[in-house]
Amino acid sequence: MVTLLPIPIKNCNIPQKRLDKQQQTNREVLNEVLRRLLQPLTFQHNPSAKSGYYNVLCADGNFRHCKLVLAAWLADCPEYSDLHHLERHVCFWCECPKNQLGDYAPPDKQHPQWDHNLYRMLSDANTKAANSELSSRHVHRGFNVFRHIPCIVSDLPKPDLLHTMQIGMLDHLQKWIFHFMKTHERLNKYNAIWLSVPAYHNLTPKNKSYEEVSQCNGKEMKEMSRYLLGVVTQSLRGGSPAQHPIFNHAIECTRAMLEFYMYARYKSHDDAT
Ligand SMILES: [Zn+2]
Repeated sequence: MVTLLPIPIKNCNIPQKRLDKQQQTNREVLNEVLRRLLQPLTFQHNPSAKSGYYNVLCADGNFRHCKLVLAAWLADCPEYSDLHHLERHVCFWCECPKNQLGDYAPPDKQHPQWDHNLYRMLSDANTKAANSELSSRHVHRGFNVFRHIPCIVSDLPKPDLLHTMQIGMLDHLQKWIFHFMKTHERLNKYNAIWLSVPAYHNLTPKNKSYEEVSQCNGKEMKEMSRYLLGVVTQSLRGGSPAQHPIFNHAIECTRAMLEFYMYARYKSHDDAT
């Protein structure tokens, strides 16, 4: 743990003008905390940062030339807006107009990414024209440390297996399999096999089918990843010749996703993984 970011108190029944002022102060405090925390990574503090290398003071008193591997964490949309010093309800990754949020943009029509160099320059310029340019792009003026470190923060990998895989992709996989079984009239068989999975090797005994569980947590998803492929394969046994390629394809997809998850859980990797 390096720091806890300040959490402002909830403002209720406060006149709008005072609320705006308080929110402005909250933003400044948050940005100042982030600045102090991440200052060693900034261009200004570390001129070699542009190359991605840093001279790091080590415990033995010697400096070493290091290349840091930066990673980020997953947050929700309002938290991203605050951290990136953007207005609320905008995409933190690209300049998608507010009224198009959530719409699918084909690859050739994607919105430009936030241009942190430009915002840094406009904020430093602090002229009337620069400030109105910033507000037209829903960017708050003022210092934001993420615009001063040598990476695009929103592009950084977010190695968070709980949110990306367990309650993200694996949850999606489970829903997809459920609908697949329903469409191909295999749901009863699937539920019966699911319930018959024994409490083997620390598995929790099952007393509810997939339908009866409202939401799985990370631990349950982790357990489920151990037997899901077996359950799917058994549920799709037999079937007409026309069904075979479809069923095989579903099994292949399930296996690919579960294998990726299992590899992602390795503590270290070699060329083969
Ligand atoms: Zn976007």
